[in-house]
Amino acid sequence: MTTRRTFLRGVSGVVAIAVAGIETPQANAQAAKVDEADPQAVALGYRHDTTKVDKAKFPKHEASQKCGNCQLFQGKAGDAWGGCPLFPGKQVSGNGWCSSYVKKA
Ligand code: SF4
Repeated sequence: MTTRRTFLRGVSGVVAIAVAGIETPQANAQAAKVDEADPQAVALGYRHDTTKVDKAKFPKHEASQKCGNCQLFQGKAGDAWGGCPLFPGKQVSGNGWCSSYVKKA
């Protein structure tokens, strides 16, 4: 027999699993890589390789600046790819760069 308590326990378990599924690094690791031709990527000057950034368009860019040491990078230090809130559901390269770069504190 399902009591109200066991029903609610089951529902909360399902919710917990659903939330965990969204937040796991595994889900992030399976996200598609940002396409450099994507309009958002073009607008921000995003490149997978920071050394390929257009110097004429972004004169303040420095080769030491990359997603891997950007405040917004959601991967761990040294990760080849990771999330970025500017590209929801996609991954940016740890060696990438865009014009919204903010040096990690
Ligand atoms: Fe990379 Fe930072 Fe730009 Fe995101 S905001 S794409 S992590 S440089």
